[in-house]
Amino acid sequence: MQTATIIGGGISGAASAVGLARAGWHVTVHERADRLETSGAALGIWPTALTALDELGLGEQVRSVATPQGSGVLRRPDGSRIATIDADRVSRRAGDVVHLVARRDLAAILDAALPAGAVRYGSPVRADGRESRASDVVVVADGVFSANRSLLLGDRFQARRTGQTAFRGRVAVMTHEVSETWGAGRRVGLSPYRDGTTNWYASVDQAPARGRPGEAEWLRGCFAGWHEPIGEVLGELDDHDVSRHDLYDVHPRLPTYAAGHAVMVGDAARGMTPDLGRGACEALVDAVTLSRCLSGGRAKGERGEAVDVGRALARYDATRRPVTQRLQAASYGLGRLAHARRMTVLRDVAVRAALSS
Ligand SMILES: Cc1cc2nc3c(=O)[nH]c(=O)nc-3n(C[C@H](O)[C@H](O)[C@H](O)COP(=O)(O)OP(=O)(O)OC[C@H]3O[C@@H](n4cnc5c(N)ncnc54)[C@H](O)[C@@H]3O)c2cc1C
Repeated sequence: MQTATIIGGGISGAASAVGLARAGWHVTVHERADRLETSGAALGIWPTALTALDELGLGEQVRSVATPQGSGVLRRPDGSRIATIDADRVSRRAGDVVHLVARRDLAAILDAALPAGAVRYGSPVRADGRESRASDVVVVADGVFSANRSLLLGDRFQARRTGQTAFRGRVAVMTHEVSETWGAGRRVGLSPYRDGTTNWYASVDQAPARGRPGEAEWLRGCFAGWHEPIGEVLGELDDHDVSRHDLYDVHPRLPTYAAGHAVMVGDAARGMTPDLGRGACEALVDAVTLSRCLSGGRAKGERGEAVDVGRALARYDATRRPVTQRLQAASYGLGRLAHARRMTVLRDVAVRAALSS
């Protein structure tokens, strides 16, 4: 049996391990943290990622804990409408709607699908270390700050700070509309969740340094006077309800996702800003594509000839790099557009046209 060392047990590492195990590989996941990550807000899971989860045999389980998203509205701070985001259109084009899934639920479903004992927690690993050298393939899934990316391709490719900071969480307020509201240098989004709570997120340019007491109050101030129910939702926050992330992507774009018998997946390959809500989704698609390339045509559980790893990784790179790098660039561009401080009237016209074409 061929062996895979997977570095990182986040969504991309865990999903790659599930896929490779189904394709007949012996997998070991090395995760630096001491335990499974159980925190984090909800993730929007797009139809292509649901299809990837179907291929991993997990689609129905994820749908059963998810909230399908209805149509949404893009608004200005005074509540006036910029455009409608039509869920039926997404469904007609892609066969399903976006589903909102708690990150901890997705992590738990992936974890339960792994072979027993496959994950070693508290185990930081290098792509040039002993375990990695001894295995047939090394899957680098160590996130946007990947130290192993530097080992494989050099220091030129780094996490780039965008200057925006995201805040998010969930509050016990019932809302009825999926919305995103764009102002100058900041925006806020609301999504009703299946249990009657509301998932919220906000992003702000040049937020003050981390660890500030009174962060919830400061955030309320950023959106004071914006249309309801934004005030009602943010009014419920305590500092400990606010999860905060400075935003990064990987820059410049990588010339390859594969090097020798190592391959990069998820944020390690092309961490993208969350503006399109696609980072985790594309990590899931990476995982099934990689597993398909490395399956050597075997069906689930079948044994067969050893796979030519070099050719399989080249195929994965050719399939995944162009599409994910386009999304990475589009996501960065959307983040800039949403925070525009000038020519917002023109921006709004362009966005309305794009969303209705
Ligand atoms: C505010 C925000 C909102 C988002 N919303 C969405 C959304 O709605 N939809 C969506 O699809 N995506 C979204 N994303 C993106 C998504 O969170 C990421 O793309 C996804 O989590 C990346 O998963 P990953 O496994 O590649 O990396 P990570 O989650 O960063 O996992 C990397 C893992 O590797 C481990 N590690 C690091 N170094 C080592 C080492 N040397 N040895 C062993 N382990 C190591 C780390 O401990 C970590 O567990 C959002 C991101 C942000 C910041």
